[in-house]
Amino acid sequence: MSHHQILIVGGGTAGITVAARLHNADPSLDIAVIEPSEKHYYQPLWTLVGGGIFRPEESGRNEVDVIPYGVKWIKDAVVAFQPNENQLTTRDGTTISYEYLVVAPGIQINWDKVKGLKESVGKDGVCSNYSINTVGSTWKFIRALKEGTALFTQPAGAVKCGGAPQKICYLAEDHFRLTGVRDKIHVMFTTAGPRLFAVEKYREVLEKVAARKGVDTRFRHNLTEVRSASKEAIYRHMDTDEEIVIKYDMIHVTPPMGAPDFVANSELASEAGWVDVDKYSLQHTRFSNVFSLGDASSLPTSKTGAAIRKQAPVLVKNLLAEMHHEPLTASYDGYTSCPVVTGYDSLVLAEFDYDGQPAETFPFDQGQERFSMLMLKKFGLPALYWHGMLKGRA
Ligand SMILES: Cc1cc2nc3c(=O)[nH]c(=O)nc-3n(C[C@H](O)[C@H](O)[C@H](O)COP(=O)(O)OP(=O)(O)OC[C@H]3O[C@@H](n4cnc5c(N)ncnc54)[C@H](O)[C@@H]3O)c2cc1C
Repeated sequence: MSHHQILIVGGGTAGITVAARLHNADPSLDIAVIEPSEKHYYQPLWTLVGGGIFRPEESGRNEVDVIPYGVKWIKDAVVAFQPNENQLTTRDGTTISYEYLVVAPGIQINWDKVKGLKESVGKDGVCSNYSINTVGSTWKFIRALKEGTALFTQPAGAVKCGGAPQKICYLAEDHFRLTGVRDKIHVMFTTAGPRLFAVEKYREVLEKVAARKGVDTRFRHNLTEVRSASKEAIYRHMDTDEEIVIKYDMIHVTPPMGAPDFVANSELASEAGWVDVDKYSLQHTRFSNVFSLGDASSLPTSKTGAAIRKQAPVLVKNLLAEMHHEPLTASYDGYTSCPVVTGYDSLVLAEFDYDGQPAETFPFDQGQERFSMLMLKKFGLPALYWHGMLKGRA
């Protein structure tokens, strides 16, 4: 059995940011990151990959290059936690013990929850931005469509970056317009939710964007099946339970997502399956040496990398305080951000907190579509990510 002072589960956005910040704070700490993947992806770029602005490979780096120097990489996957014994088990059958644990394995994509999706995604006009293996197909099918119905979906429940399902719809609509085929294409956006966005200020803006673009929006529509042979999308109406069939020529599916099974089946889980942490301190509600952040955590905010940028310093400060038997004073206010791309030259930068109140960074009204904010998403934020956040500096 091996042992580490601080064990981090997941070498994604949250895991690496925390590892870097802890290492910067005290290089003598014995930190290990458990991460099975050879590659680390900047997933927010996948929206722009789907819209043909970047190539899929531009979103990734080798995992080995993002693990901070001095932090150990355990190339394995966790399968079970034993928090009462301060240890966990990996897929290779190894048991690893720890003094402090940070749980950050992200959200699980449940492709199986839509019948026919797993078999069809990437083929026959069915695409999705939600995996590096399928994001290339989004641009392929958007580019190929010259007439018919382009359908975009959003499922019930939490997804990564709540605005992302809409972003690709607006980019596609803009592409159809710019290439002169918009008149021949019916653009539809279906969501299981009751509105386009949870925060009032940005909802109003996005409703106007959808109306201006002639996007046919359908609410309370939950996709249950994709019949790729007949090009039919099958929905359940969330209120009436009625079955609705919509014919498509291309469909971009945002798959259902949820807590990773190995987290949900563990003693660390909340009732809903997420790692059960205090929403301000990020400390586990029952195991004081366990912390969590990011998509796998129970934090009741929109699941974004931008939220992690604010969560990580709070978690690190509180974890170090716990180690030194001091009170946990750092507090996370629920800040999250969603840069909603509304076309090839415009973006609405939504930023808000736990109370759904705008928490904007810039000294102008971010409720307006702006070219400058699109430039920020294309060039500013990726640079901030690779050179600032993952180095524990931003
Ligand atoms: C299409 C799309 C658009 C997005 N747009 C934006 C945006 O504009 N702005 C924004 O801020 N955010 C955006 N996001 C969301 C952002 O990418 C995520 O919120 C963020 O990556 C979550 O970080 P995380 O560390 O919690 O999870 P991840 O970054 O997903 O990392 C989880 C890591 O855990 C590893 N892991 C999984 N299972 C195990 C296991 N059993 N054991 C060990 N390791 C494991 C995984 O391999 C992975 O490396 C977008 C996401 C997508 C997909």
